[in-house]
Amino acid sequence: MKSALNVVILGGGTAGWMAAAGLSTLLPRSRCTVRLIESDEIGIVGVGEATLPHMKNFNDVVGIDEAEMMRRTQATFKLGIEFRDWGFLGSSYVHPFGMHGPPAGGLAFHHRWLRAHQNGAAAPIEEYSYSVMAARQNRFDFPSANKSAISSTYSYAYHFDASLYAAFLRSFAEARGVIRTEGKVKDVELDGEAGNVLSLTLESGEVITGDFFIDCSGFRSIILGEELGADWEDWAQWLPCDRAFAVPSERTGELTPYTRSTAREAGWQWRIPLQHRTGNGYVFSSQFIAEDEAASALLANLDAPALAEPRMLKFRAGRRVQSWRRNCVALGLASGFLEPLESTSIYLIQIAIMHLLPLLPSAGRSDPALAAEFNRKMDLEYERIRDFLILHYKLGSRDDAEIWKYCRDMPVPDSLMEKLELFRHSGDIEQYRDGLFTLPSWLSVYIGQGLQPERYHPLADGEPVDRLVSELENLRTDIADRIDEMPKHAAFIERYANANEPTEMVLHEAEARL
Ligand SMILES: Cc1cc2nc3c(=O)[nH]c(=O)nc-3n(C[C@H](O)[C@H](O)[C@H](O)COP(=O)(O)OP(=O)(O)OC[C@H]3O[C@@H](n4cnc5c(N)ncnc54)[C@H](O)[C@@H]3O)c2cc1C
Repeated sequence: MKSALNVVILGGGTAGWMAAAGLSTLLPRSRCTVRLIESDEIGIVGVGEATLPHMKNFNDVVGIDEAEMMRRTQATFKLGIEFRDWGFLGSSYVHPFGMHGPPAGGLAFHHRWLRAHQNGAAAPIEEYSYSVMAARQNRFDFPSANKSAISSTYSYAYHFDASLYAAFLRSFAEARGVIRTEGKVKDVELDGEAGNVLSLTLESGEVITGDFFIDCSGFRSIILGEELGADWEDWAQWLPCDRAFAVPSERTGELTPYTRSTAREAGWQWRIPLQHRTGNGYVFSSQFIAEDEAASALLANLDAPALAEPRMLKFRAGRRVQSWRRNCVALGLASGFLEPLESTSIYLIQIAIMHLLPLLPSAGRSDPALAAEFNRKMDLEYERIRDFLILHYKLGSRDDAEIWKYCRDMPVPDSLMEKLELFRHSGDIEQYRDGLFTLPSWLSVYIGQGLQPERYHPLADGEPVDRLVSELENLRTDIADRIDEMPKHAAFIERYANANEPTEMVLHEAEARL
């Protein structure tokens, strides 16, 4: 009889516990057993608080109850990100988790909008996006299941307290058989011949052996980086921010269903609304501002009193050239880091787990083809996100601060330059099957940061302009009317996932909905 693969995860942050939850629920125990080592003394980075809609799929697949997770992590809903002052000072646009225009297929909506816009007869494009208009009015409801309804044209993600999420996942994974060991790893033993990882030795002297290791040890990348020597590919020339101060503040004002990112003198500031507090941070480049000035700027720009001292985190943009080497895969910060501008890190953890599952070797086997396929998929994921993040820095007309002048003039990767030129000259947006960020995302940043294409698709000329203008106006007013009827985000949370309510009441309500 085949024995189960003995998987050892090093690290109990979001990456480690997501991997533990994924493996323990999606693979039978006869196929794999999971042990996780973490050190309370070292702790977790604990700042990943904004997510992407894919997180809901992960939760659904592993069987996490949404309302329960939200209640336990002080979570709120997220319909997108508002970008303030990015294109120019005073500008604002929302990158929504949804499309612009009606759900119908055919020619992409923005070509028709561009035609009407060039005729001076269209409102700003965001007024034709159901999710942007809901976000702007602090409203939330679940998307309609009827795919022909305008209210089906979006999805949603969560904001949550990252430390509470890791704790929630821990109790979930432990209940499904994951064994947790508390302790600090001090040595990694390799086998002399193939260089595979044999075991991890704790400071207590305990030796933990395994067939396959998942390195979730955070920025240090103890197994993949330090021990297996995976090279680092540096992307700091395109993504110059290398520090962040994070600070929580008191909850204030209406509960917004979106993250806010405000461009600042040497980077940008995030604002993430949770049920019990607001998360804030200033992501900045130390080339362009001193650390103490950045901390003061963050505190000066809070919309409510701080609840703690700002905490600084240092990082570099880039990634390990291979996330899988020998019998070890790195997830999360141990595999690379792209700044949190589009909340992509937790997505990268999740997609890596999903790519890993079908490729996980059997006990006693190793096949370089599996690692090669995993690395190929992860390369694509990282590069797509990298280009999309650089786009935010590259586009725009700000010249009031050195960082924005540097970014506007910097050369960008060819893969991004081609996309930019395509849109600039034709209004077309490159579409790809694999990887993050599809047409609505690219469109919202292009238009939101001031890139107007020279032309639109000739098919958009296929109807009389009067008819086009009146159709757009009907769509705009229809969206506005429907949004007026949506519940307020705060009221929706209060009813659905109130963190102060006992679990039984949430369950009772969930049952009543069935
Ligand atoms: C400023 C900032 C803002 C961010 N915002 C977002 C966001 O909004 N959205 C998003 O998706 N992501 C965000 N991220 C990224 C996100 O925080 C991480 O991807 C996520 O928390 C996963 O971290 P991790 O589990 O890889 O590492 P960590 O949280 O650092 O966990 C590392 C684990 O390894 C353990 N460990 C380390 N060394 C040892 C040892 N020797 N022995 C035993 N155990 C050890 C630690 O105890 C810990 O449990 C942000 C990151 C930063 C820096």
